[in-house]
Amino acid sequence: MNTSFIIAMLYCGLIGTSAFAQKKLDPSVDLNIERLKEIVAINSGSANIKGVNEIMGKIKPWFEELGFKVEFLKNPDGESVSAPMMVATYTGEKPEQISFIMHADTVFEPSSPFQKMEQKDEHILKGPGVIDDKGGIIVLLQSLRDYLVPLKSAGKKPKYTLMVEVTPNEEVGAIGWAKTFEDMSKKSWLALGLEPSFNMGGIVEGRKGNVWYEIRVKGKEAHAGVDHAKGINACDILADKITQIKKLTDYKKNITVNIGHIEGGQDKYNIVCGWAKANLDTRIPSPEARKSLNAKIESILKDAQIEFKIVDETAPMSTNSISKPLIKKYLDMIYKVEGKHYEAHVSGGVGDANHFARKGIAIIDGLGPIGSGMHTIDEEIDLRSIQTRAKVLTEFLKSL
Ligand SMILES: [Zn+2]
Repeated sequence: MNTSFIIAMLYCGLIGTSAFAQKKLDPSVDLNIERLKEIVAINSGSANIKGVNEIMGKIKPWFEELGFKVEFLKNPDGESVSAPMMVATYTGEKPEQISFIMHADTVFEPSSPFQKMEQKDEHILKGPGVIDDKGGIIVLLQSLRDYLVPLKSAGKKPKYTLMVEVTPNEEVGAIGWAKTFEDMSKKSWLALGLEPSFNMGGIVEGRKGNVWYEIRVKGKEAHAGVDHAKGINACDILADKITQIKKLTDYKKNITVNIGHIEGGQDKYNIVCGWAKANLDTRIPSPEARKSLNAKIESILKDAQIEFKIVDETAPMSTNSISKPLIKKYLDMIYKVEGKHYEAHVSGGVGDANHFARKGIAIIDGLGPIGSGMHTIDEEIDLRSIQTRAKVLTEFLKSL
């Protein structure tokens, strides 16, 4: 047995053969698969602003031909921070909005060894960004086509105004867009994220939030042999604090702390360490957890020799009374289309959808295609899921 055959069998087993029983694809699906290949072939690492722009230029007419009005927003933090964000709007009967969130950038910069696309077999396409998140853009295009074309030919408008947001720097924390997301969230009653499906088919009902701390310790250098007592060892202080901070991880409560980097002193043996620095990542499931974790960290870091600041923060996204029935409905629709039960998960990873979190909005993410290996050189998509996940989304939109 060759490997692609085994992979094909594995996929059938995981996704359920009935999911992909359709033999003939709608020609529009074939067209969208070709479009996926076109955009995967363009490098769009977040820092490759030219590449991200090229993707935006490619997809703009694809949304326009569906009747969307497309505009580009410059990054409020400056044009060197990221490419512009593409925003496509389709006015519905009601001004209330449904936001669709996805991103054009990938983690694979031009310097990455992973640049090439590879058709592993009839259904499996490997390539940088193929599910995260270029496949998500394509699932949405397919779904909006299936949703809007029949409406248009019947002379009707969609019930809600549709707003598509294709962001240029999701993979590096969407720097610059906090206010933009906040404004978009206020206009939306529902936000749907087209990030890849979770764990080969599940959807995402929550995303942990994060807070990043930069910790700096000021010590005092001294001769380690002659004047040891006159020095203040910043490395020692930092090590003490890290030992206390690391105890705050609580897997049961979905809270983690992670020291990602430390540095300090000179590259010597005989000088008392004069300074030290650490980068601390914390992940929390709720605003309450953020508050209590932050209080504990602050009390640990309360020290005359220490200065710290929060360098990045994203609110957690969680379910509410509006989203819960919608999540159930979505999972039921997946079962109808693919014949397999999937679950809704809380992801530890932060995404653009987090920025839409506020009271009174329903958010569901992970509505993109099925595949695996995101952020690795093994990233691949099951192309059949473009058709099935687009159909699920279309049926869901029709049901609202
Ligand atoms: Zn992504």
